Amino acid sequence: MASKLFYQSRLPRPALDRAEGIYMWDISGKRYIDGSSGAMVSNIGHSNPAVLQAMRDQMEKSTFGYRLHFQTEASEILAEKTAALCPDGMNRVFFVSGGSEAVESTLKLARQYALAKGQAQRFKVISRMPSYHGSTLGALSVTGYAPLSAPFEPMMQHMPKIPAPRAYLDGLDADDPATGLHYADMLEQKILDEGPDTVLAFIVEPVGGASTGALVPPAGYMQRIRDICDTYGILLIHDEVMSGGGRTGRFWGADHWGTAPDLISISKGFGGGYVPLGAMIARDEIVETVLDAGGFAHGHTYAGNPLACAAGTAVIDEIHRAGLIENSATVGKYLESRLNALMNRYPFIGDVRGKGLLLAFELVADRVTMEPLPPGLNAHSRLVDIAYDKGLIIYSRRTRGGLSGDHFLVCPPMITTQGQVDEIMEMLTAALDDFAAEAGL
Ligand code: PLP
Repeated sequence: MASKLFYQSRLPRPALDRAEGIYMWDISGKRYIDGSSGAMVSNIGHSNPAVLQAMRDQMEKSTFGYRLHFQTEASEILAEKTAALCPDGMNRVFFVSGGSEAVESTLKLARQYALAKGQAQRFKVISRMPSYHGSTLGALSVTGYAPLSAPFEPMMQHMPKIPAPRAYLDGLDADDPATGLHYADMLEQKILDEGPDTVLAFIVEPVGGASTGALVPPAGYMQRIRDICDTYGILLIHDEVMSGGGRTGRFWGADHWGTAPDLISISKGFGGGYVPLGAMIARDEIVETVLDAGGFAHGHTYAGNPLACAAGTAVIDEIHRAGLIENSATVGKYLESRLNALMNRYPFIGDVRGKGLLLAFELVADRVTMEPLPPGLNAHSRLVDIAYDKGLIIYSRRTRGGLSGDHFLVCPPMITTQGQVDEIMEMLTAALDDFAAEAGL
């Protein structure tokens, strides 16, 4: 019988049977290496016994307690653990079930904070091009319930964008602090162009995700955007949906630069693929101001449910118990060096970038000009398919505004060993050989 399911498109992929560690098996028995942790989600690997046990234990007690009826011990514990990992003064945790909900929550809390401070004119949220922050922002604009939507008008308005700091494309040295200032200046210029009093927030992925292919900000950038936001009274949102949770070799991506935002979103590795789970973490003063002004007009039915929170707690405990952040840093360095070495073999690899086990490489026609491969080659899907046939899962996106350019994320679970990196590299090299032959490169 034809499947009743659909997603963005028809995906002729086999059905999953089981998964363990970094491996997955389809129902024919074929084995795959999960070289992208799904969509950079299964950070501690599949079927972790401690997480499964914690979920079983919680299921025996309760799986749902509506937040207006009960606090739950499971959500209190996870909030404590999460806040303990955050910069000073960021102790307020708001649970959701995914990344888009987490981002949406930051935008709405920021807006209500501005309203509470009598700054109704501040509604613009500056972001970067390219960037990805989730799929739901428009949903509220078609919600027919004014008490919940009115505070956030106008919505679905084109929001200002500045270029992401892609130094490697612009021929700039990412290690030179002048490069960081160059890109951060674009934020200041945009704020001035828009009118500082109208700007509510700036949202940034500290280490880029799928849209930029693990873009690492240039030296000085993260500190400078913090200063600019402070100068103009603009909230800084770190979208750590993908970069949070330890994959980069620090718990937060921004920990590499020691900068603190006003609001954080996290998901993906937070639930580790065991449960749909996300969170917004906010500066205490922001939350207190909004609560004093009448409350936060936002929430989701499943938010903070005890099963998800018990799993989230077990995921964090496993990350610490097994030293997975440290492993991401060391095994990530090894994987990065192996990917860099591929550049000697394949002239069509133009760049390798990332932090820890959030790594990507980009294919180009010319490494000097960084001209992308011809779109007709469909490299982003062909290489993924060839690798998939060989039993290696990697994740790809078109890099340059969706028209051309291809990058690939190689982000295996944080439990990956050096030996398993060798296994990944053997399959990836075989896939690149086949792709090069097919594409005539
Ligand atoms: N923010 C970032 C940085 C992401 O990478 C993603 C998903 O890829 C999202 C938000 C949206 O998360 P979700 O797909 O869980 O809604």
